[in-house]
Parts: sequence; structure tokens; C-alpha cells
Amino acid sequence: MPGGQYQVTSTRFHHSVYSLTDSSVASNEDEEAEAPPPLTPLQKLTIDLCKDEKTIKELIIGRRVGFYKVRGEIGYGTFSRVKLAFNALTKDKVALKILEKARLDSQAHRLLSREISSMESLQHPNVIRLYEVLETPSRLYLVLEYAGGGDLHNKICNEGKQSDNASKIIFAQILSAIKYMHNLNIIHRDLKAENVLFTCSGCVKVADFGFSTRVSNRNVILDTFCGSPPYAAPELFRDECYLGPPVDVWAMGVLLFFMVTGTMPFRAETMGKLRRNIIEGCYTVPPWVSGPCQRLIKGILKPAPMERYAVDQMLGCDWLLPVELPWSLVTPEPSSSLRGLLDSECRNLEEEEDVRILLEELGFTAEHLQNNRLKDNRSPVTGVYRILLHQAQKKRGCDSLPVVRGMVRDPKREGLRAYRGLRHTSKFCVLS
Ligand code: ATP
Ligand code: MG
Repeated sequence: MPGGQYQVTSTRFHHSVYSLTDSSVASNEDEEAEAPPPLTPLQKLTIDLCKDEKTIKELIIGRRVGFYKVRGEIGYGTFSRVKLAFNALTKDKVALKILEKARLDSQAHRLLSREISSMESLQHPNVIRLYEVLETPSRLYLVLEYAGGGDLHNKICNEGKQSDNASKIIFAQILSAIKYMHNLNIIHRDLKAENVLFTCSGCVKVADFGFSTRVSNRNVILDTFCGSPPYAAPELFRDECYLGPPVDVWAMGVLLFFMVTGTMPFRAETMGKLRRNIIEGCYTVPPWVSGPCQRLIKGILKPAPMERYAVDQMLGCDWLLPVELPWSLVTPEPSSSLRGLLDSECRNLEEEEDVRILLEELGFTAEHLQNNRLKDNRSPVTGVYRILLHQAQKKRGCDSLPVVRGMVRDPKREGLRAYRGLRHTSKFCVLS
């Protein structure tokens, strides 16, 4: 019903534009003699959204949403389609996760609000960022950081098993993201190779928080079966209540096995057999997998959650010993020195100040910034602010890759990727 959609979309954007237009856009009749100042990018965009025929047509047919120009499809999931888009002001690429409201029942609505609330709390180099949430009468749009390097599932299907060193670099980043989430009491519950994405420079980004949940503490008992069966921990199949962190840990064990062997540890023709294999912990690690990696897999894939490695044991395992994380991946512990905390506070304040200057150059006034407080994810000002802030953090090297000490890089195999990451990395900290 294009007519209906036009009506409402148009009303919505007039509203947004109105709230973003300040007095400097109004005609200055009393200053007739003076030439009007040049329009800022924000003023040009808001005028186009209201008056430019081509732009309005693009809004009607869905080629534009809010401040974003929408391009082709880059993925799809159970409830969503994901499209590439550009922010019209910053020109940054983003991923637009599009959900049709009519297809969402009350449970899907609940999951979506959890997905949004988990992503809102997470700011980590290996977790996809949420920039903004947009809503039209028929659709919801999550504006996400774009990861243009494909997902781990396709990577393994195309390239086969990954080398020991490449697996370490990928796994260390997933582990860093999970440690960070668990520290904030957020459990992912749908870790699988399809939800591990890469940026074009090979940085890992954990995505899809649709099944995530926040617990009041890590000992809270959960009872909803979530996730994908081949990655599901035995306690989920035993119809027991379960603790959150060990379920993510188990899925990481399946991921690690998949990465280093190119096959899944638990496979079966029927769900019943798969369930039995998982409950009994029936899997065989091929003998050519390195000893330290075998020990890690065996420490993780323990059917009894209490015997399973905890995240910190994984971090301290022999296999990951030679891995050096870039400083941006080291989660500050409460015991971090005051000096260190103050340094990072100062860096954050400097970055925020730089971003405020960029916002002003685009045409956002002090009034816009004051009214928005840059926390409301439904505001286009917040969207632009978060994109610019993330850009500044990336310039500072927050998307650097870990390196493996003593690793002899073969540019053909390990890829230019590791090399590129290394060049941009300024400081390292040993993972322990
Ligand atoms: P499901 O629950 O079936 O896994 P979903 O509806 O929750 O799916 P996502 O997994 O978030 O959707 O996204 C679907 C696909 O879209 C992903 O597998 C990936 O290929 C692509 N995709 C999602 N987010 C991004 C992103 N930020 N950058 C690039 N591609 C993405
Ligand atoms: Mg998914």
C-alpha cells in the first residue's frame, strides 16, 4: 500500500525534520541586505527530505530511511532482512536489519527488545555496534555497524579448516567479546559460525543478539531453550534449567572444533541422534590438531557444566599463551590502576570533544546536542554521533587484530589481513 506508507512516512519525516531544524534555517527577512550563509550538510539534507522530489520518492519506495540511503541485500535471518546502507551525512556504510512488524508476534517483540537493550550496553571492538533504531508504521530498522568480510561459516565452507595461528587470532577475539559480555552479565545464547562476522580488514564481530539475555548475576538459572541444535550444550537437551555462561562456553568449543577441523564435532541424520551424541559428549578430535588446542577443546566440551572450563581458564590456556591482544581488547579489571583508568577517561573525553566538533561542522547546533543528550537510540542525532565516535575509535586502532608471538607470517596463507592489523597496532598486552 504505497499510498498509506507515503502518508505516514512523510508525516514522520516532517516531524523529524522539524525537530532538527533550528532558527538558522528560517528566512532572515530582517537581514535582507546580507547574503544568506551557506547551508550546512544537515540543512541541505533536511530540505531534501521535505522538498526534493527524488528524495521523497526514494523515501516512499524504501530506498531511503531516515538519514540512510538503502542499497542491496547483504543477508537475511529468521525474522529479518539485512541491507547495506549509507549515512547521508557521514557517508559511512552501515548494515540495516529490517523487521516487518506484521511478522513479529509478542515473543518476537520481546526478543527484539532484548536484542536492542543488550546491544545498547555493549561497546567492544569485537561486538557489532548498534547506532540507531528507526521505526515506520510497518517496519523496524536496526542501524548496525557494517561487517563487510562475510561470516565464519562461509569462510570455513569456502576455505576449509583454518590454520592453527589463524584460528588463534579469530578465537581470541571471540573470547574477548564473550568475556566482556559475561562481565556485564549478558549471555549471548546463539553463538554459531553464522553469527561471527568479519570486517573487511579481518576483525571479528560477534553479531545477532536476538536470543541474548541479561541476568542479575551469573548464577541466575535460565530455562528457555535458545540457539541452534549443533551448538547447544547438553544441559539444554536434558531439559534442565541451566546457567548462562557455560552454555556460551560450550558453543565456543563447537566453534573452535569447527574452525580447526573444518567439520562439526556433533553431526547426525536425526535430531534424536544429535541430542544423544551431545548429551554423551561423543566426538573425536582428529590427531593432527595440535596438543594445546586438543586440550582446550576437551576442557570446553565437557558434558557437565560445572566441569567445563570457565572463560578465564580458556584465556589462560597453553594454546592461547602466545597470543597478544591489542590494548583495545583488554577489558579493564576493577583492580586496574587509577592512572590507567584516568588515561582512558581522558582519551574518551578527547574523542567525544572531537566528535562534537565534527557534529557542529555537519550543522548540528548546541541546541540539538543538548536536546538529544546523545543517549536516545531513536534519534538521528544519536545515530550520527555514534557513527562518528566509532570512526574516531577505529582511527585510534580499536579494530586492531591480535598477533601470535613468534608467528612467521606467510602473506599468502595467513593473509594480508594479519599484516594490516599489525601495522595499525600501537600497543599490545599479553593475554592472560
Ligand atoms: P537468525 O536468528 O536466523 O540467525 P536474524 O534474523 O537474527 O537471524 P542476523 O543473524 O542478525 O538476523 O542477520 C542475518 C544475516 O545478515 C547474517 O547472517 C549476516 O550474513 C547478515 N548481517 C547481519 N548483520 C550484519 C552486519 N552488521 N554486517 C554485515 N552483515 C550482517
Ligand atoms: Mg543470525
